[in-house]
Amino acid sequence: MALALLDRTDEQRAICEMIRQFADEQILPNAEHYDHEDLFPEPIVEQMKELGLFGVTIPEEYGGMGLDLTTYAMIVEELSRGWISISGIVNTHFIGSYLLLKFGTDEQKQKYLPRMATGEIRAAFSLSEPELGSDVAAIKTSAKKTSDGDYEINGTKMWVTNGLLSSIVFVLVRTDPTVEPKHRGLTCFIAEKEPGVAENTGEYKGFNVPPKIKKLGYKGVESTELVFDGYRTPADSILGGEDAGLNKGFPQMMDALEVGRVNVAARGVGIAQRALELALKYSQERKTFGKPIAEHQAIQFKLADMATQVDAARLMTIRAARLKDAGERSDLEAGMAKLFASEAGRFCVEESFRIHGGYGYSKEYEIERLYRDAPLLLIGEGTSEIQRMVIGRKLLQRHKI
Ligand SMILES: Cc1cc2nc3c(=O)[nH]c(=O)nc-3n(C[C@H](O)[C@H](O)[C@H](O)COP(=O)(O)OP(=O)(O)OC[C@H]3O[C@@H](n4cnc5c(N)ncnc54)[C@H](O)[C@@H]3O)c2cc1C
Repeated sequence: MALALLDRTDEQRAICEMIRQFADEQILPNAEHYDHEDLFPEPIVEQMKELGLFGVTIPEEYGGMGLDLTTYAMIVEELSRGWISISGIVNTHFIGSYLLLKFGTDEQKQKYLPRMATGEIRAAFSLSEPELGSDVAAIKTSAKKTSDGDYEINGTKMWVTNGLLSSIVFVLVRTDPTVEPKHRGLTCFIAEKEPGVAENTGEYKGFNVPPKIKKLGYKGVESTELVFDGYRTPADSILGGEDAGLNKGFPQMMDALEVGRVNVAARGVGIAQRALELALKYSQERKTFGKPIAEHQAIQFKLADMATQVDAARLMTIRAARLKDAGERSDLEAGMAKLFASEAGRFCVEESFRIHGGYGYSKEYEIERLYRDAPLLLIGEGTSEIQRMVIGRKLLQRHKI
């Protein structure tokens, strides 16, 4: 089973080799600079556009590569092995294209997908608010229909990855303030804006992006608030159209989060893999008590535990992706993969950090960046606690007596 799980088609092998080379030659040598300066890695992103990485899962008819979730997960692992901020630049975009493909109207697909496939426009997605993250149903940002048939959005969103440089934001807002349960009153709008503009004017007036949030790690890719202040958007910007999409935003977003979880799991595998590589190298170079530290059993045990976690995380991630691609139920498996792989990322990074001794604390060593980057994966797209809640609930559904 494990062999079959990890089998790759010739195409997958060629793509992974290409992305690994891209990570080795373009991402890894430059990540330190962009991380230290907290600078958007524009030249790397331009090369990603040329490689077609913004259209991996977008069908060929819209100009994308038309690849499946499994291949996408393999690509995300390789990019994250280089730097998780790079995969963060593609991640929300991937979720946006998934939402469009699954729920969008033909007009919405035609309007956005061809330009998304090339990376000409990029997408963000926005659920969280200053007062909520896990409790999505509590969303307060609201959209009200105006007399001319448009919707007016008011409220503040929080933690929007790619919040400034994106051109479209899949934003979940409240359209029915009275309905119970509350999640039935939420709608996903495709909100357009000018990329890179803090205070939009003209047709995008009322859509403002405050200065980026200063973070522990996950630098380079911006995380911002979004402030909607009387922002007007047409009814046909509702995902799936007004008739089909009004008050249907919650299930749409939860569906997208399921594939998003496979994506975060793949990022966990990538960062864990890189931490292991760094530990394998450093432990054979560094000597204490007359021999390389890799020859001390305590260090070998760390390496063994790390490699085991990387392997298990990769198998779980690929299994969840393959199930989804085969059209089978994968909610439980995606939740388990996300939980395990993000925790494996944190574990491997910390063990590698310990192996580096004092040098792990120095900005001269790559592991210092990984140490600041890894915790994000424990939080984004559902914390480990929320993951356990999802897994527990799904388990009981599947094994109801
Ligand atoms: C760098 C970064 C980028 C992000 N990007 C995006 C983005 O692009 N779009 C977006 O919408 N959001 C984004 N987020 C937000 C992220 O999804 C939330 O931070 C996350 O869902 C947790 O929500 P919270 O921070 O409000 O924590 P809370 O929900 O307030 O949780 C606080 C703590 O309580 C725990 N907890 C909460 N409820 C329960 C419960 N019922 N039982 C047990 N424990 C519980 C949580 O696990 C956590 O430990 C991003 C966050 C970060 C840090």
